[in-house]
Amino acid sequence: MGLKPIFLNITYIIHDCHFVYFLLLNGICPCFFKPFFLHRYAAHKAFTMNRFTEKVFFVLTWLFQGPNYLSPFGYGTMHRMHHAFADTENDPHSPKYDETIWNMMWKTKNDLLCHCQQKIDPESRFTDGVPQWESFDKFARSWPSRLAWAALYFSVYWQLPMYGGFGYVAPSIPDESHP
Ligand SMILES: [Zn+2]
Repeated sequence: MGLKPIFLNITYIIHDCHFVYFLLLNGICPCFFKPFFLHRYAAHKAFTMNRFTEKVFFVLTWLFQGPNYLSPFGYGTMHRMHHAFADTENDPHSPKYDETIWNMMWKTKNDLLCHCQQKIDPESRFTDGVPQWESFDKFARSWPSRLAWAALYFSVYWQLPMYGGFGYVAPSIPDESHP
């Protein structure tokens, strides 16, 4: 299948008002996976899952977070450290020890990468039970994956202005001036 059918399908989705659903998937669903899978499950083990369900959640996290995929292992490990060392020098995500918030975020990004690649060897209490699926995680964090997602998003969102921008997403609101 060439690119043209893919493009036509994307155009069709927008034409047919299914853009509403795309926005919901793209904007709201990612908000579920971070608090539910990455925070409550990966970091805090607030509930249990079998290995298969865990893997399903890895894939769903990738599908819904797309180019912003956050590694459950990296996040879970760092989040435990963030709680244990809150606002001390060992806290991996504290604004107290960086000059600007951008410096803090950059450092967090670099630390996260080191944790994902297991270049840092934290105490076992920070890693025990944190879900890891190395091969999939590596793929989901890779540049080809992130760029493919970015291209897909761009191919949808660049068409928005042609259809009245975000106003287009609410076509079913009744217009009382036209009974
Ligand atoms: Zn927490």
